Amino acid sequence: MDNNDSHTPCVACPYCGASPLRFLRDGTRGVVSRTVEHGIVSKTPGSVLRWKCPACRRSFTQYPDSRVPGQRFSRECIYKLSERYLKDHTMTYRRTVCEDGIPIAYPETDQGNSGDGDEDYADTPILAHTTIYRWITALGAKQLPSDPCTTDAEPKQPSEKAESMDLPTRKYRSAARKDVLLQCRAALPPRRRKE
Ligand SMILES: [Zn+2]
Repeated sequence: MDNNDSHTPCVACPYCGASPLRFLRDGTRGVVSRTVEHGIVSKTPGSVLRWKCPACRRSFTQYPDSRVPGQRFSRECIYKLSERYLKDHTMTYRRTVCEDGIPIAYPETDQGNSGDGDEDYADTPILAHTTIYRWITALGAKQLPSDPCTTDAEPKQPSEKAESMDLPTRKYRSAARKDVLLQCRAALPPRRRKE
């Protein structure tokens, strides 16, 4: 991790928009990144940098590219499972959270850890299919920015191009949801958009 104080995490403060020559370091914050390996949710502890804006004195977190702000799962994991749902015409949300027909599970030691309200594993320690639905909804709505500094980044793909992509009709019942799915696919990295 880069601990150089002169490193500027972004060009403008996400709160006040100021563009100081440098932001002030404001320590680190521990985070746990979740991903799916061999059908099991695995957790990797790490830390992210905090920065303080000299103009408004507010602090913000600098997430690495591997993380999506506000999401506990790694960016790669979110992309991978979203792609799995989108590219296979027969894939359902419930099948997306399975590997080799077996539901993706949390480690047994994780069962009591339901404090995040993120997964529906109060009753059963498996990755909830609604989590995939939420990821796709957020990706389609461009609500999963890579960094607080790039929240307002321009869309990567014009919707016209997204519209031209093939999408199985069984995956949506409304035009609005279809648009979300198309925008989600457009939001995936190029290597994940096509089969
Ligand atoms: Zn500021």
